[in-house]
Amino acid sequence: RIVYVNGAYVPEEEARVSIFDRGFLMADAVYEVTSVLDGRICEFEGHVARLHRSLAELKMAAPVDDAALLEIHRELIRRNDLTEGTIYLQVTRGAADRDFAWPEGAEPGLVLFTQAKALETPKAAETGIRVASVEDLRWGRRDIKTTQLLYPSLAKMIAREKGADDAWMVEDGYVTEGSSNNAYIVTGAGTIVTRQLSNDILHGITRASVLRLAREAQMVIEERPFTLAEAQAAKEAFSTAASIFVMPVVEIDGVPVGEGTPGPLAKRLREIYIAAAKATSI
Ligand code: PMP
Repeated sequence: RIVYVNGAYVPEEEARVSIFDRGFLMADAVYEVTSVLDGRICEFEGHVARLHRSLAELKMAAPVDDAALLEIHRELIRRNDLTEGTIYLQVTRGAADRDFAWPEGAEPGLVLFTQAKALETPKAAETGIRVASVEDLRWGRRDIKTTQLLYPSLAKMIAREKGADDAWMVEDGYVTEGSSNNAYIVTGAGTIVTRQLSNDILHGITRASVLRLAREAQMVIEERPFTLAEAQAAKEAFSTAASIFVMPVVEIDGVPVGEGTPGPLAKRLREIYIAAAKATSI
């Protein structure tokens, strides 16, 4: 695999970053994951806009401009013959002698790599996934997409130990989001419910598009918190993220949701979303 590191395209074995990089020492870094379908990048504009928001919240500089970022994505697709998968991008504050205070004038670091993966028709989309609830113990700025992923990673492992595929995190009795995705339920009346945007959750790029497409399809949406009990009694449940699009959730803490199979609304939204993502891919 050819990866991008600070201006150079190199085989992954040759890629090097400093041990003083603050991304490595302090998770002083932000990231994006963008999906690729048919060799084209999905939702590029949305991911770049969120990257700028994350950078601004942490007073971090962008290492290159947006046109250069797009070119790097495209070059990695070309060099790796990527038709379907994801592109990971990380910006770090850079390397400096270890200190909690941010260094003056450190050169921001930029790393990108591709991961080939079946996104359009993975097995999980047909079977749906099982989730287990885990207390949400992350920090208070989950709207910033930082590489502080230790707790979400631990939450996923706790869910796995419980025999589930992923974690839905819960705070003060309400679901915040999945370990790496936004969470939704469909009520008996057919209303799509998902938590409103705040500092408590990541503002998913897929979430924004799915909600817009759902509204265009005359579906009813309520942005509000929901409890685990409400989710377990719901007609359907699903998660969204760039790497899973719309993923049906068929079981929550061992309780089947609806029929215990992927719901019609989640399946329809998945189709609508993939069609729209392809139509607007670049
Ligand atoms: N929430 C969290 C905590 C995430 O890590 C992610 C994906 N990185 C999402 C939601 C979904 O965001 P997106 O749709 O932009 O991939």
